[in-house]
Amino acid sequence: MADLLKVEDLKKFFYVSGGLFGGGKKTVYAVNGVSFTVHRGETVGLVGESGCGKSTLGRTILRLIEPTSGRIYFEGRDILNLKGKEMRRLRREMQMIFQDPYASLNPRMTVEEIVGEAFTIHGIAKGRERRERVRELLDIVGLPRDAINRYPHEFSGGQRQRIGIARAIALRPSFIVADEPLSALDVSVQAQIIRLLEEIQKEFNITYLFITHDLRVVRHITDRVIVMYLGKIMEMAPTESLFTGFTHPYTEALLSAVPVPVPGSKRKRIILKGEIPSPMAPPSGCVFHTRCIYVQERCRKEEPALLPRGGGTLSACHFPLR
Ligand code: SF4
Repeated sequence: MADLLKVEDLKKFFYVSGGLFGGGKKTVYAVNGVSFTVHRGETVGLVGESGCGKSTLGRTILRLIEPTSGRIYFEGRDILNLKGKEMRRLRREMQMIFQDPYASLNPRMTVEEIVGEAFTIHGIAKGRERRERVRELLDIVGLPRDAINRYPHEFSGGQRQRIGIARAIALRPSFIVADEPLSALDVSVQAQIIRLLEEIQKEFNITYLFITHDLRVVRHITDRVIVMYLGKIMEMAPTESLFTGFTHPYTEALLSAVPVPVPGSKRKRIILKGEIPSPMAPPSGCVFHTRCIYVQERCRKEEPALLPRGGGTLSACHFPLR
């Protein structure tokens, strides 16, 4: 499969005030040297506990926030050097579906204005033509055509997420970052939205980067999974390999916390010790060493490289489980 997106050694650091007694600025290492590729047409899951940097990574890839350093190639083009018209053209190709359909839709805009805004910004359609295009999008996402004149508060959570999806696909993007698109929805509604995302993927040949903490959803809809911890990739693998033959202790701990049925497996339950450390002071060596049940002296001093483990799996551990 051809690469659609290639990310190389991407870093995003935030600089925050040390607070009342802290003095000086502190650095938040939100994304800290991340490299991976996404192939055209696949769905890649990005998982990890909250605070691991996955949302920041998604937003940085779309240049909603600018990276501190690194490279991002989309269809072979270095997008960090794009400006003005070229960047606007790229925005048509790369879109985002947000976590909270309540917060991401402007309450003072009608559905026509929300979904059709991109047509106006990009000079694609206005007036009657814009209305017709918005109606077609409502058909695609399963909303009634008369929704066009209504406001976000008149819809349920699932319907609002459908409006968000209609907005995201308006310009026929080839790549969508979906940032926890299900987490604000009831379980029954989640299943409907997953089905819709799968349908539009097939119809419009969309590639997804799917950010979530829900491993059951990941197993259902993704082709490959990237596991992040404190701004770094711990493991990256084809989805089935990850669930049945994970190699990283952090992946093991994450999977042990959810009842994912694997035939014949007697998986032990691992309780992760303590809280995720502050991204302002990531541990030395392996960033997971303060919570890893397999930690050894080497782990505290030496950072493990992300290395191939066979079958398309890569993981960053001095003592991989397989
Ligand atoms: Fe655990 Fe050491 Fe592997 Fe890090 S390098 S995950 S601390 S065994």
